[in-house]
Amino acid sequence: MRRKLAAGNWKMNGLTASLSEIGTLAGDLPETPCEVLICPPATLIAAMAGAVHGTGIAVGGQDCHAAESGAHTGDISAAMLADAGASHVILGHSERRADHGETDADVAAKTEAAWKAGLTAVVCVGETEAQYRAGETLAVIRSQLAGSLPGGTTAANTVIAYEPVWAIGTGLVPQMDEIASVHGAIRAALSDRFGADMADGTRILYGGSVKPGNAAEIFAVANVDGALVGGASLKAADFGPIVAAASAA
Ligand code: PEP
Repeated sequence: MRRKLAAGNWKMNGLTASLSEIGTLAGDLPETPCEVLICPPATLIAAMAGAVHGTGIAVGGQDCHAAESGAHTGDISAAMLADAGASHVILGHSERRADHGETDADVAAKTEAAWKAGLTAVVCVGETEAQYRAGETLAVIRSQLAGSLPGGTTAANTVIAYEPVWAIGTGLVPQMDEIASVHGAIRAALSDRFGADMADGTRILYGGSVKPGNAAEIFAVANVDGALVGGASLKAADFGPIVAAASAA
């Protein structure tokens, strides 16, 4: 049985004062919560790790370098994230792929670095609007998975996030049957490459304009094991109901 995961990606948002949202979120957690992960900017990881202590909420990074250390000004290694209190790291987010030219091979190298530091990798895949309109969604997703997931991928060391680029921050969401079709194809691709047991145990999150108003419907879709949430993860008033919906699903 896969436990649902509600993951928040704060992106480049949040100052020390934003940590108060964590106290509110933790205070409102359901009795039997789903797994909850918040990925704040790197500057807040250590403080957030302290703030979530004893709540069961996990903290993650939003990227890491593929190298363990060295002359990479401004970058952060996976070991540094772990040292600051992170247990997870988002890799291959479409904003990293677009803004920093990250390739599938880069994502695979970062994923291996994350595992080496003991982090769970949250590997993102998703088609652009043009690819969606051209009917290329499944081909794009299969190709990104093939290139971004190293051979050692397991249900324990990796979570997949399907995030259509055109749904991120736009308020647009695919039809539920479209989400079902992509998530089913992802699980089938995992099974083909890594075996049925690994595929059965791996969480596949949906991401893209998840809000309190649509979360329950999305979590009811086959093969959706939670969500990666951007804008609606910044405020406990929005993320709390999403966590509640995932916990109830
Ligand atoms: C994201 O960036 O991972 C995301 C899903 O953003 P939003 O929820 O704001 O669409």
